[in-house]
Amino acid sequence: MNKKVVIIGGGVSGLSAGIYCQLNGFDTEIYEMNNLPGGQCTAWDRKGYRFDYCLHWLVGTASGPFHSIWKTTGVLNDSVKVINHDIYTRIVNEKEGEFLIYSDILRWEKYLIEMAPEDAGAIKKMCSDMRKTSKMQPFTNPAELRSVKEYLTFFLAIIPTLRLMMKYGNKTCKEYFDDLNLTNKRLIFFLESVFCNNDFSALIFLMMLGWFHQKNAGYLIGGSLPLSIRMTEKFKSLGGTLFLVKKVDKIVVHNGIAKGIVLNDGEEVDADYVISAADGYTTIFKMLEGKYQSEQIKTAYSTWPLFTPIVQVSFGINKEIHSDVATQTILSSGLRIGKTVLKNGYSLMNYSFDSTMAPKGKTVVVIRFDSPWTLWEDLAGEDYKAEKKRIENDALALLEKQYPGVSEFVEKIDVATPKTTVRYTGVWKGAYEGFLPTSSNITKTIKMTLPHLENFYMCGQWLFPGGGLPPAAQSGKWAAQLICKKEKVEFEE
Ligand SMILES: Cc1cc2nc3c(=O)[nH]c(=O)nc-3n(C[C@H](O)[C@H](O)[C@H](O)COP(=O)(O)OP(=O)(O)OC[C@H]3O[C@@H](n4cnc5c(N)ncnc54)[C@H](O)[C@@H]3O)c2cc1C
Repeated sequence: MNKKVVIIGGGVSGLSAGIYCQLNGFDTEIYEMNNLPGGQCTAWDRKGYRFDYCLHWLVGTASGPFHSIWKTTGVLNDSVKVINHDIYTRIVNEKEGEFLIYSDILRWEKYLIEMAPEDAGAIKKMCSDMRKTSKMQPFTNPAELRSVKEYLTFFLAIIPTLRLMMKYGNKTCKEYFDDLNLTNKRLIFFLESVFCNNDFSALIFLMMLGWFHQKNAGYLIGGSLPLSIRMTEKFKSLGGTLFLVKKVDKIVVHNGIAKGIVLNDGEEVDADYVISAADGYTTIFKMLEGKYQSEQIKTAYSTWPLFTPIVQVSFGINKEIHSDVATQTILSSGLRIGKTVLKNGYSLMNYSFDSTMAPKGKTVVVIRFDSPWTLWEDLAGEDYKAEKKRIENDALALLEKQYPGVSEFVEKIDVATPKTTVRYTGVWKGAYEGFLPTSSNITKTIKMTLPHLENFYMCGQWLFPGGGLPPAAQSGKWAAQLICKKEKVEFEE
């Protein structure tokens, strides 16, 4: 008889864990509380429009360890079309005008130097740092299974960036920009407005632009939901079983060994191994009642900052509206949408580049903005409905400002709040990518195992500050690798 693995949560990490467990001969069952798989990597259909929630860019669309995971899990195949936007984002400010961030670093360098010739030296240094970090690749295997050869290969590959890592590994973007000694006020304004919130890590800034430059962080036509569906189909085709609308309340532990799960209807499911791919806080503090905490977990969950949740207002527009850029960031501090006073403005995404999002002749445009969890946690009933209505009206006014006359063509408005995210995925405090990557946690990862608990693994975005689809999927694979090691099964990928 094959050993049985039960996975809690059918998001991208759970689906990945399921695929790799099935590939390695385990009987795998995924228990997902929602009525469809994918977790936060999802979309919803309204009045013929598709409102996508997650996918903007996927690291690993061209090469590297993430790329092989996307191929194995069915996320990428010959019929999936990947596009790389020329412009990552256009930033607009009423006073300062427009600022572009190009995906191609050489092109961006030229643009920046034209804008701020007095800072040419600093700009060249910044762009050279980005090019260097673009050569960095993540580890292929979990820490417990890395060979000396893998560490050597990794360190050889990062030699050109070693000095950068040492210098900027624990610096914030603000510190990095200060070190560059930029003088052009407009350039400083735009860089700081976009990248200098909440101690955001300098290294992440450099790496992100590096990935775009390599064309290794593209967008998949069709967006988030088809991505999750392809993973689900792969899992099922390998013989895995997915249970939907099955919420897990508890992880059963006997003598320090995980033995199964209890669902919220009282049903018990036995297992040889349990993997939790659900939200980290719920797993550790609710399903396991906080009994198995490491010092690292105590520190992370009590001190590391979280991503501020977002509100997404999606518009179905009965008109073709083309845009030369997919995403714009409208910087406008002090603006109010509903109760939220915007610290940083909002983003506006025009999906006309993906024809699967709207019927022919129509367009989907989405406005997203940060909205602190404290504004939402106690909002319920009529107050909640009223706030959603206020947001709808305020966001429509902003859309009208962008596209004068558009209001009469808007045939559907959908408001998804942090509460919506929490209700559908359980993500703690609506922090959609988990822990914010800061200068102090960026080089840290949370262990996949817990002290004094055998046959149990965690995977998903909560293990890596910055979260995102690639580490979520990779940690699913890593959980399967650790189980294979324990069972002395040679891991196949
Ligand atoms: C607006 C937005 C934009 C984003 N853009 C990008 C992007 O461009 N690129 C990128 O890489 N990432 C992006 N992300 C982040 C990415 O979506 C997440 O990091 C990733 O989907 C996390 O996957 P996960 O499997 O770890 O967790 P989740 O997606 O949160 O999945 C957890 C699953 O567990 C289930 N679950 C929870 N509790 C239980 C329970 N008790 N019982 C059963 N099931 C349970 C949930 O329903 C859910 O399906 C974005 C996210 C958002 C919200």
